[in-house]
Amino acid sequence: MSTENQEQALERLAEGNTRFVAGKPLAPHRSGRRRRETAEAQKPFAIILTCADSRVCPELIFDRGIGDLFVVRVAGNVLDDLTLGSIEYAAEHLGVALLLVLGHTNCGAVKAAIEQEEAPGHTGSFIDFIRPAVAKAKVMEGNLCFDSVLANIGRVVEQLKSTGPVLDDLCRNGKLRVIGGCYDLASGAVKILP
Ligand SMILES: [Zn+2]
Repeated sequence: MSTENQEQALERLAEGNTRFVAGKPLAPHRSGRRRRETAEAQKPFAIILTCADSRVCPELIFDRGIGDLFVVRVAGNVLDDLTLGSIEYAAEHLGVALLLVLGHTNCGAVKAAIEQEEAPGHTGSFIDFIRPAVAKAKVMEGNLCFDSVLANIGRVVEQLKSTGPVLDDLCRNGKLRVIGGCYDLASGAVKILP
């Protein structure tokens, strides 16, 4: 049942992204009727942890509407207690079976982690989370920013699978599938990572 839900959820995301890239969105679930239908309870089909970047808008990217996606956004799509708590709520309490960690090309948070030694104010809070991914990307041969984005997504996916009793159990029992993806700012395409 869960596996079926997960496949179906992934398919719905992929289909929506294809429509978005083609410039032919259906813009579903944005009517007053949908608003009223979901006012009492929500049943989103996917959780998306993504960047706060103004160009990364999950409902647009996946051509979905109200009540479809449980979105958690923070610069650099990193995991801390607050983002993790929100994800656990959606996975356990709302029973959402698919979790996508969505990074993106040309991520300013990742660039900040590459460039800045001293982070001003509170920006260090997310930069510190990204630095290990940058260190990993530095030994790779490609583009440092892009490799760091991918390493950061991979790192967060692994953290989510082994980060405490709630998600651990759900993953082990097949009730939650955690995947990573990268959004291309220019093309609009989301590539699901292996
Ligand atoms: Zn970003």
